[in-house]
Amino acid sequence: MSIQFDLTRLVRPHLLNLVPYSSARDEYTGKEGVFLDANENALGSADEMGHNRYPDPYQQEIKQKLGMIKNVSSDRIFLGNGSDEPIDLLIRLTCVPGKDAVMIHVPTYGMYEVSANINDVNIIKIQLTEDFQLRPDAMLEAVTPETRIIWVCSPNNPTGNLMSRADIEKLLRSFSGLVVVDEAYIDFAEEDSWIGQLDRFPNLVVLQTFSKAWGLAGLRAGVCYASPELVQLLNKIKPPYNMSAPAQAHLHQALGNVKLKEAMVEEILKEKARLQNMLEDLSLVKKIYPSDANFLLVKFDNGPAVMKHLLEDKVIVRDRSRVVLTDNCLRITVGTETENNQLITSLRKI
Ligand SMILES: *Cc1c(COP(=O)(O)O)cnc(C)c1O
Repeated sequence: MSIQFDLTRLVRPHLLNLVPYSSARDEYTGKEGVFLDANENALGSADEMGHNRYPDPYQQEIKQKLGMIKNVSSDRIFLGNGSDEPIDLLIRLTCVPGKDAVMIHVPTYGMYEVSANINDVNIIKIQLTEDFQLRPDAMLEAVTPETRIIWVCSPNNPTGNLMSRADIEKLLRSFSGLVVVDEAYIDFAEEDSWIGQLDRFPNLVVLQTFSKAWGLAGLRAGVCYASPELVQLLNKIKPPYNMSAPAQAHLHQALGNVKLKEAMVEEILKEKARLQNMLEDLSLVKKIYPSDANFLLVKFDNGPAVMKHLLEDKVIVRDRSRVVLTDNCLRITVGTETENNQLITSLRKI
């Protein structure tokens, strides 16, 4: 048995009725003509690169292309200025400040909590199991009438593992709010994306990003896949031109290079296996956790001391040693062959 999901009851009432900003490009959508409607500089741009015109507010060309690649209709796609933007917008769309709540598992990606704090939204935290899996029964028990969103990060940052599909499905079936599955690292994992399940679960939202496998962290481009109704609501509350023209142009180009992305993923996974082998040979490494991502979570006898030593050699990793369940752990991104060798050389000197 599944719960009844009612998006209109979840959305803050004043946003349901909001009259959104109507941009020049909303009011006239044709491509040809003499454009004297947006107060742009008709002569050109000071960077001499032709950025004088406002970009497509809904990034239609990107969505068409991305929709074909991901096999999802373009009205289920929302594009943002990094994943951070949909994370914030989803909270703002559903959570009344000072009253409503979101649920996260710990440890996980820090932005869910920061974004909730910025919006003055309560946070319910449920610890993962020792092997970093969800505890869906404990989560569902801790849900309050004010809980609007459950964030699930899979593969999880910083632990690196995929979350059990059965557990996520249980949340989707039993929770009447949104279940947001953040798949920032899904391209590195063996499992299918949850995008394929959007038809089955109206309360499912999937986040992906161009920052990791696609190698476009500098562009700031994140994707939110959801029901067309939810996407429409996000469009209503987003900044009108939330993705710049250069970002859209570069994305367009990148989407024509799926093979290159896949080749890079393959190379990174190969390097990950090699890095893992080299780490296993070091006596100061206590444990390497299984990873479905482009990084390894590694436990040392004394994580902070290893961190300090690496920094002295100008090798920078992420210190997760003060995070619950990951004491003495460092999160190491898989680098190039040379970079990974430098890391190992530095660790061998300890
Ligand atoms: C890196 C990462 C992102 C990506 O964020 P962007 O704003 O798109 O760069 C999102 N979620 C998780 C869990 C991440 O680790």
